Amino acid sequence: MKNISILGSTRSIGCNTLDIVALFPERFRVLGLSACENIERLEAQIRRFRPAMVSLNSVKAAHVLKERCGDLGVEILSGVEGLIRVSTLPEVDVVVSAIAGSAGLIPTLSAVMAGKTVALANKETMVMAGEIVTREAEKKGVRILPVDSEHSAIFQVMECGRREDLHKIILTASGGPFLNKSYEDRKRVTVEDALKHPNWNMGAKVTIDSATLMNKGLEVIEAKWLFDVSINQIEVLIHPQSIIHSMVEFRDGSVLSQMGIPDMRIPIAYALSYPERLDLVMQRLDLARTGMLTFENPDIKKFPCLSYAYDAMKTGGSMPAVMNSSNEVAVAAFLHGRIGFLDIERIVGDTMSGHTVKGVNNIEDVLMADSWAREEAERLVEKN
Ligand code: MG
Repeated sequence: MKNISILGSTRSIGCNTLDIVALFPERFRVLGLSACENIERLEAQIRRFRPAMVSLNSVKAAHVLKERCGDLGVEILSGVEGLIRVSTLPEVDVVVSAIAGSAGLIPTLSAVMAGKTVALANKETMVMAGEIVTREAEKKGVRILPVDSEHSAIFQVMECGRREDLHKIILTASGGPFLNKSYEDRKRVTVEDALKHPNWNMGAKVTIDSATLMNKGLEVIEAKWLFDVSINQIEVLIHPQSIIHSMVEFRDGSVLSQMGIPDMRIPIAYALSYPERLDLVMQRLDLARTGMLTFENPDIKKFPCLSYAYDAMKTGGSMPAVMNSSNEVAVAAFLHGRIGFLDIERIVGDTMSGHTVKGVNNIEDVLMADSWAREEAERLVEKN
């Protein structure tokens, strides 16, 4: 029996994780849950899975939940302290890190420091503080198992090959909903258009990131830290059908890939049950029915966010965190109708070029870069 905590349990990855738990009650038990503010859904999850502890973002939301669930014997906490408690519960074996954005950083790092296996969906943790997190994980002998479909694919392929034979990683990308749209069309994109992803059903932040290809940029950096490769060993390949989830090329030219239908429950189940595989009863990949699988190189002129990620990693220090945090501000501003779709990439680019890069030795350095970038990006949003 594995005891698990899920950070971000009411979001898409969190709900999919609970689907897997519900299918295999003899294997997994939920001890901790956390949500941002979705009280209704969290209450339903508490009634169904009976965790020992939950946490919500605000004190106010936690009070409302206490009134509703006071009789259920669940400890209800709030804020960052609550998140840290949920991610470091003594009996927990695996922490599923599925909060959106940089809010995932501190609780994920706390889980690592507490020696928990981390099933990582929150790529921002690695983008902002990959060096620190991987260093701490190594010190504690903690495994970070990828949940992101691309990284799960690479991880699965690497189970079949030797690390020293790896030549390069080929990260596949659907290309998002605007792959073939002109500049003029993309200028007029609405929030509604951007939230329609062709293949995956995900939360708002990652869906917008997919439309700008920033999501792929974040994944390039995540892959760099998870698989300890140089940034030059990671290539991005557009594959609109999202059937091949990524590939690894070995030194002899052999390319191995992992394929499957685009359903996040597959990589989630693998991270939870690793090294075993679970009997998942779901639609199977039918290649004859899928028909053509197509590939093309990404157009980085059209999608500059992808090249920002390579630039940020080459610059190093505080730059990846600045890129990530300015993107979060810009995406939130777009979702609130304050800026246009193409302003996202412009604001990220301008925040990065206005940043004087600093060394990052500890988490305080990361948080300082984060708050600088937020202020600067917010200023650029205001100016817009
Ligand atoms: Mg992904």
